[in-house]
Amino acid sequence: MSNNIKNRSRRNFIRNGFTGLAGAILVPTVIRKDRESISLQKKGKKFIYRTLGKTGIKLPIVSMGTYNATAVTNVALDAGIVHIDTSADYNKGNDERMFGEVFKKRPRDSFVIGTGIGMWQFRKADQIKNTISNKTLRDYIEGSLQRLDLDNIDIYYLGGIQHKEIVEHEPYLKILKEYKKAGKLRFLGVTTHANEPEIIRTATDGGVFDIVLTAYNFRKKNRKEIKEAVAYAAGKGMGIVAMKTQAGVYWDRKKKEMINMKAALKWALQDENIHTAIPSFKNSDQLYEALSVMENLKLTPQEKADLKLNQGSSSTGLFCSQCEECIPQCPADLDIPTLMRSYMYAYGYESPAKARETLDYTGLSNVPCINCSSCSVKCTSGFDIKKKVTDIVRLKDVPEEFLAG
Ligand code: SF4
Ligand code: SF4
Repeated sequence: MSNNIKNRSRRNFIRNGFTGLAGAILVPTVIRKDRESISLQKKGKKFIYRTLGKTGIKLPIVSMGTYNATAVTNVALDAGIVHIDTSADYNKGNDERMFGEVFKKRPRDSFVIGTGIGMWQFRKADQIKNTISNKTLRDYIEGSLQRLDLDNIDIYYLGGIQHKEIVEHEPYLKILKEYKKAGKLRFLGVTTHANEPEIIRTATDGGVFDIVLTAYNFRKKNRKEIKEAVAYAAGKGMGIVAMKTQAGVYWDRKKKEMINMKAALKWALQDENIHTAIPSFKNSDQLYEALSVMENLKLTPQEKADLKLNQGSSSTGLFCSQCEECIPQCPADLDIPTLMRSYMYAYGYESPAKARETLDYTGLSNVPCINCSSCSVKCTSGFDIKKKVTDIVRLKDVPEEFLAG
């Protein structure tokens, strides 16, 4: 971006105010310095381990999902976290670079790193023809090895899979198998936020992948189907990792009511076919709260009440279940599920940089909603789609230097 454009964007950003969004953007990441970062196990705290399917890797059931999480990483590893999940997409590869620095000071067998490349451009099954080239996939793998400064990556994911065509795409599988054979990728995985049951079963039956990283939480509308697919996959020796256990973090956009994170994590981990989960932590308080679920996985009556398990989807909150029912209803063919994920990252996860990256996947350059007198989309979660889309697309005009976190 030229300096003139940069300055103009900054002036526009400041002049327009970005009511609401600004609160989501300027969020400091605070690490408490007064905590003693020492292995909780050494302090006699209970840890629960499960084996990641046929990989044989034994992990604490609480692992760490990250985004721009530099400061808390060492605290987490010192506290007993073993598995860290990141992506080449995060912060343009800078998260991987940061982990490379962290790992230099630690024995190679003391951590398990998962990374990969997002396949978000394939919103529709027939978009496989727009696939990234074989060379690009190789460049991504080599780039991750270089940024992490490791001889091998423990788990390499094809990320954000929504349609099984990607999981079955022979040219990719050939490359992944080649890298695995060479010992540069120890295990292969797929990640999925939408259409999960089909992706999980396809990855399992294909015989190439070892691990599935799936969205799994108490608010997913298809949680029963995901649970069944997870049981099927685990039964066939797949390692299963859960993400998005926090289900949008808040029940409401104004962030008056936070979801009980500990209860939400317990809900996912009560399923023994989930071998580990990757909640994200912005600070050590959140880290220690997540680790404390291992003391007792049983939900208390209060935690059950907090999760509103008997109230269906009456509280819409920030979590989009990625059911994709909205897509055919929008005449502008907007990628609404991705926009809603961006919205959730901005307001729920308070991660504006990740929200912006997600927004960029849609390739939106304007707001088609302004041409609609009323929105024809009926969201299964009751979202006011026009309002949310109009709100979140403003993020594309925010200068990158404002997007910390
Ligand atoms: S916006 Fe609504 S309809 Fe669309 S994917 Fe999300 S929950 Fe489903
Ligand atoms: S207002 Fe609704 S129907 Fe119109 S473009 Fe936006 S999301 Fe699509």
